[in-house]
Amino acid sequence: MNQFLKRRSFILIPIMSILKIILAPIQVLASSLSPKEDWNLSKEEWKSRLSPESYYILREEGTERSFSSLLNNEKRKGVFHCAGCDLPLFLSEKKYDSGTGWPSFWDSIQGSIETKVDFKLIVPRTEYHCSRCGGHQGHVFNDGPPPTGKRYCNNGLALRFVPE
Ligand SMILES: [Zn+2]
Repeated sequence: MNQFLKRRSFILIPIMSILKIILAPIQVLASSLSPKEDWNLSKEEWKSRLSPESYYILREEGTERSFSSLLNNEKRKGVFHCAGCDLPLFLSEKKYDSGTGWPSFWDSIQGSIETKVDFKLIVPRTEYHCSRCGGHQGHVFNDGPPPTGKRYCNNGLALRFVPE
C-alpha cells in the first residue's frame, strides 16, 4: 500500500464511523418489525395480503394524498381496525375533523399502537404503528383537541372501518 492510500484509509475510516452514527436514526425509516412472531411476515407475504396502496403505507411508511380516503368523512359509530392484522386501533367516539384531509383521532385504544421518532421530513416527527403487526399508521402531533391534546393523523388506507 503506498503512502497516499494509507493516508486515505486513515482519514476515511473515522469519517465512515462518524457517518454511521449520524445516519443511524435514518434506519428507523424501514417499517417497524412486529414484536409478535406470528406477524413477522416476509415482504412477499405482506404483498399477497395487501393492496399495493396499503402495502406502500403499512410496510413502507408511505402517506396517502390528503382528502383521498373515504374514511376521512366516516361519521358512523364503530371501530377502526389495522388494515394489516385487524387489531382494533381507534373508536369512532374519538375521531374528529382536524381539517387536514386525513382521518384524525384524539386518542387510540390502549395498547394498540406504539410510537417511534422518524426524520423523514428532517424535523423529527412521532411515527406510530400497530403494536401487533408493526404496520405504519400515521404520525401523532400535539395540536389535537382536549382532553388529550393529541392528534393522531392516520392514513385511511391503513385502516378498516367496522360499523357498529
Ligand atoms: Zn396491525
